Amino acid sequence: MPHSETTTITTPPPTAVTAPAAAAVAVAAPGPSGTTARSADGRGSWLRFSPAQPLFRARAAQRLAVLAYHGVTDPRSFGAQLDRLRRLATPVSLTAVEQAVAQGRPLPPRSVLITFDDTDRSVLTHALPALAVRRIPAAAFVIAELIGTDQPFWWHEAAFLARNGGRSRLVPTGRPAELLARLKALPDPDRRRSLHELRVSAHRRPPRQEQLTPEDLRALQADGVSIGNHTLGHPSLGRCDDATVHSEIAGAHLALGKWLGEPPTAFAYPDGGYDPRADAVLRQLGYRLGFLSDHRLGPRLPAHPLRISRLQVDSTTGTRRFDTILSGLEPALQRWRGVAV
Ligand SMILES: [Zn+2]
Repeated sequence: MPHSETTTITTPPPTAVTAPAAAAVAVAAPGPSGTTARSADGRGSWLRFSPAQPLFRARAAQRLAVLAYHGVTDPRSFGAQLDRLRRLATPVSLTAVEQAVAQGRPLPPRSVLITFDDTDRSVLTHALPALAVRRIPAAAFVIAELIGTDQPFWWHEAAFLARNGGRSRLVPTGRPAELLARLKALPDPDRRRSLHELRVSAHRRPPRQEQLTPEDLRALQADGVSIGNHTLGHPSLGRCDDATVHSEIAGAHLALGKWLGEPPTAFAYPDGGYDPRADAVLRQLGYRLGFLSDHRLGPRLPAHPLRISRLQVDSTTGTRRFDTILSGLEPALQRWRGVAV
C-alpha cells in the first residue's frame, strides 16, 4: 500500500485571500468543458480554472516551494512536471537553500526545490535521468539501515504480513491503511514488537525489495541529487524515547558520512512531523536544513531552517493539479477542509 508522510492540518493559512473565500470562488467555478470537480481529469485539476488560481500563483512567486516526492512511478508524467517547472519556476539546489540561509539573502522569486523521501530505486532509475537531462538539481532523503539491502520498507512489509495471516496482540489487523495508522501511533518499542509478531505469525515471507547501494548514493550525488538523512529505520520520532531519537539520527549521520565521504547537512522528518528533541540533535551534528511534510509553501528566506515546509506531490499528478499545488491553492483548500494530506 502507498505510504505518505502525513500531517493533519487544522490551522487556517496566513493568506491574503482567505481559504474559505478561495474555496467559495473555486467551488463556484466550473471545470473544463463544464465538468464538475469530481468528474474532471484527476483529483483537484478543476481548481486550475478557479479565478483564485492567479491570485495564489502571484503570491506563490514570492514563496519557496519545496516539493516532496516519494518514488517516481510515472516517468513520463514526472518529465512533464519538470518541463512545467522549467517554464514557470526557478529550480534551486539544496546548497542554494543552505547558502541563502547562511547569507541571510532570500532565494530568487519562484524558487522550487525538488526532494524525495525514503528514496527507493526509482529515484535512481526514473527520476535521475529526467532531472539530469534538464539540469534540475534535487535532494534525496534515505533510510540508512536499508542501504545496500533487499529489505522492504517496514510499512509495505507490515501490510503484506497482515494480508498473509500475520497477527499482533496490540494491533488488530483490519484495512491496511488502518493497520499502518495504528502501528505509527504506537510507542516505538511496541511498533517494533508488533512487527516482529506479524513476521513470526504470517504464513508467507514478504517479497524482497532491492534498495539503493552506497555506490548508487554516490552516483546520485555526482549527478546533482544531494543525499540527506531520513533516520536509520524510519520510526515516528515523536513515538521514540530520547535515546532512540538520538541514535536514529546520529546512526544515519555516521553511516551516510562514511559512504559519501562527508556528513549530510539536511534532514527530513519521518512521517513529516517536527520533534524538538530531534531539532537539538540536528543542531549538535551541524545540520543546516530540516524538512517537514506540512503541505505548505514557505518564505524565500526560511525563518526556521530546521523546519522548512514542503508540498506533497506525486509523479502521477497531472500538470493542471500540479499547478494548483505549486500555487498553494490546493493546499489552502485542504487546510480549510481539515483534510489530512
Ligand atoms: Zn519517509
